Amino acid sequence: MSFTLHGHAVSNGIAIGHAHLVSHATLEVSHFVLPSRVIEEEVLRFDAAVGVVKAELDVLMADTGAGNPTELTAFVDLHQMILADPTLMDATRALIRERRCNAEWALVQQMEQVVAQFDQIEDAYLRERKADIVQLVERVLKVLLGHPGHLPQRRGREEPLIVVAHDLSPADTLQFKQLKLAGFVTDLGGATSHTAIVARSLAIPAVVGLHHARALIREGDMLIVDGTRGVLIVGPDERILEEYRLRRSEFDLDRSKLKLLKNSHSATLDGQEIALLANIELPQDIAQVKEVNAAGIGLFRTEFLFLNRDDMPDEEEQFLAYRAVAEGMAGRPVTIRTLDVGGDKALRDGPRSASNPALGLRAIRYCLSEPQLFLTQLRALLRASHYGQVRVLIPMLTQAQEINQTLVLIEQAKEMLRAKNQPFNEAIEVGGMIEIPAAALALGPFLEKLDFLSIGTNDLIQYTLAIDRTDEAVAHLYDPLHPAVLRLIAHTIHAGERAGLPVSVCGEMAGDAHLTRLLLGMGLRHFSMHPAQVFEVKQQILRSDVADLKRKVTRMLKADDAVKLRAQLDKVNAN
Ligand code: PEP
Ligand code: MG
Repeated sequence: MSFTLHGHAVSNGIAIGHAHLVSHATLEVSHFVLPSRVIEEEVLRFDAAVGVVKAELDVLMADTGAGNPTELTAFVDLHQMILADPTLMDATRALIRERRCNAEWALVQQMEQVVAQFDQIEDAYLRERKADIVQLVERVLKVLLGHPGHLPQRRGREEPLIVVAHDLSPADTLQFKQLKLAGFVTDLGGATSHTAIVARSLAIPAVVGLHHARALIREGDMLIVDGTRGVLIVGPDERILEEYRLRRSEFDLDRSKLKLLKNSHSATLDGQEIALLANIELPQDIAQVKEVNAAGIGLFRTEFLFLNRDDMPDEEEQFLAYRAVAEGMAGRPVTIRTLDVGGDKALRDGPRSASNPALGLRAIRYCLSEPQLFLTQLRALLRASHYGQVRVLIPMLTQAQEINQTLVLIEQAKEMLRAKNQPFNEAIEVGGMIEIPAAALALGPFLEKLDFLSIGTNDLIQYTLAIDRTDEAVAHLYDPLHPAVLRLIAHTIHAGERAGLPVSVCGEMAGDAHLTRLLLGMGLRHFSMHPAQVFEVKQQILRSDVADLKRKVTRMLKADDAVKLRAQLDKVNAN
């Protein structure tokens, strides 16, 4: 049976492939004590489930030979090993027999024990493997609970895997960078959640906020993900498949034509130079940045170095990562943002604001409450500044006192390096993100004390409109074109211009080619976006005349009605 689900388009393009269900939900199973007479039956039920999973993995393994990435082979291999490991399986059988626990309960208890042992392991790589144990246990539980996985009928180079999950954290999504996936879809999530942002950085089609996809889709189902329109088609017939294969080829063709813009000068029709910078999450992302010939890094979200691990990267590890980016960009600017954790990016041992993490101890607020951790990062950043054009960017500032405290700590970090004769750029530039309305409305201390500003529209929209960017229930209200948001952005750009401070936009708005002309008309000259978006935005820039746009956009900004504004923008984009 074929059906279609609608969600939020997160990353453009079309993916065709087989579903691979992923779950990271807490494993909740019923707990009951069995009568003695059914104990052996329960052990047999458990063994049968293990047998089903083993067969699934064997088939997966056979398929992975046929052109799938080696990472996937390693992943299946590891799951086979865990399944054969007596610490998990024999001990579960013992719990069923000795404590008369039902199989699901016994398995989860034993998993918790094993996972707790993993937490003690020093080796970070081995410690990370506990996620694989949880996944494998989930597979067995699915069979025990009567949701056996349906194996993909056909896997190969043409129709690879599409991950289907109820929800994914940014840390989960980050792990996909290691795997070659065709696309992914989730039940939860908004278009500018960090999960969505990492998805975009993978440049694979993705749709989020699908509500019930995880429950309705079975392992191996054939799927079409239309990441441009936010549509997921489950079990399409041959005619629809053909249609989408054609659309996929057209999309890929258009994308490859855009590559011709790689070396064209980024300037408008009336000769205004526009800097197109890139956003990255990990040092290895600079390969993509170079492919699109971006003018530099406008935002390096360093918190991704801190995710998926129990410890914090020390100064040396951070220094090596930042230096790799600074050197890799060979003299082009590299804007490194200090740790922005909290909100939807939770560290394992990081800040927990129980009631409302987006309004809690996030980003600079957390760093100022943990000065040793902050100083470690600042020293690493400063040391990297000796190897390239590094600039420091501070997230989520609201007021003068935070700026002052940050500058004092930067000075302290410098002093520590001077004492050790470690070289760094004494004149390193320090910038602030404008992503809270309070900051945009009271820019005085920012203009006075900082060297540059970068508008984080993702959070600016979240905080201006009181819309949790991760909550798909209110995602339809998340509106970059709300007049209040546009006025805050325009005001910041103009104030920066008047004070002679460079202003960039590094939120998702900067990479949306439908908004390029609007931002140009507001006076924006520095755009920072995911590398995959650079060519599309450049194409718009090459076709635009800023003098003309300035007039039109100034008129648009007077509108109080988002619907009218949208209609005006469509007109501006039309020619
Ligand atoms: C933003 O808020 O727009 C931004 C760029 O930062 P992040 O998405 O990492 O919060
Ligand atoms: Mg932000």
